[in-house]
Amino acid sequence: MSVLSLQDGIIYGPIDSRRLGKSLGINLLPTGYKLCPFNCVYCHYGWTDKYWRRSGKENFPGVDEVKDALKRGLEYARECGLTIDYITFSGNGEPTTHPQFARMVEMVWVLRNGLCPSARIALLSNSALVGSGHIREAIGRVELPIMKLDVGSQGLLEKVNQPVRGTDFEEIVSGLAMIPNITVQALFLAGRVDNSTPRAVADWQGALERIKPKEVQIYTTDRPTAEGGIVAVSDERLEEIALQTAELLGVEVRVY
Ligand code: SF4
Repeated sequence: MSVLSLQDGIIYGPIDSRRLGKSLGINLLPTGYKLCPFNCVYCHYGWTDKYWRRSGKENFPGVDEVKDALKRGLEYARECGLTIDYITFSGNGEPTTHPQFARMVEMVWVLRNGLCPSARIALLSNSALVGSGHIREAIGRVELPIMKLDVGSQGLLEKVNQPVRGTDFEEIVSGLAMIPNITVQALFLAGRVDNSTPRAVADWQGALERIKPKEVQIYTTDRPTAEGGIVAVSDERLEEIALQTAELLGVEVRVY
C-alpha cells in the first residue's frame, strides 16, 4: 500500500468522509506537487514536495477558474441527484495559502446558496497561517472550520509537523484563540515520533484551554505515512485522551 495520490484537478468527489458525510472537495493548490507550510511525518500524501513560503510564486488557480469548476460540479451533482453534505476546502496542501482565499470563501457562499443550499462549507486547515488577521477573518466565514493542532509545544510541532522555518507555535495558538467556534482536530501517533505520551497530551490540553474550541476531534493514522517507524495509537489510549480532554474543557471530544 502506498501513500495517497495528489488531486489532479480543482474539484474532486463527492467522497465519503467519516466526519463530513458526502464531501465535495475544492483543491485551491497547484496540481502535480504538494505545497504546504508543514511536512507532517504522518502525511498520507507523502513528503511535502515544496514548502509554501510567503514570497513564493506558485501556480494557484484563479477565482474564476475555481468558480467555473465548482459551478460545473454542483450542477452535475444536481442533475445526477447526488447528495452533497459539505463543500470542503482541502486538497494538495494548505488551502489558506491561496493568495485570494478570502475571495474564494465568498464565491463559494454565493454558489452554494444558489445551487446547493443544503450543503455546508467546511475547511480542513493546518492552522499555520492563523497569525494573519485577514486569514482569520476568512476562516471565520467558513461554517465548519476544522483546524489542526496535534501538539502543545514548539519542540513537538517541529518533530510532528516539521513546519517551514519561522513557524511559531505561540502565534498559532493565539491565532486559533481569536477565531470563534472552531473545531480542533488532532492526530495522535506513537513510535519514532510520539505525541501521545502523558506529558505531550497535557501540553496539548493546555493549549486547548486557551483556544476554547467548540469541538475537538481526535484520531490516529490508518494509512501509510511519509515517515517510517510511525505507529497508530491504540483505541483505548484515544478514548482515554478523549475522556480526559472532554472533562477538562467541557466540550465534546470525538474519536474518529
Ligand atoms: S498539513 Fe496536511 S497536507 Fe500538509 S503535510 Fe501535514 S498532513 Fe500533509
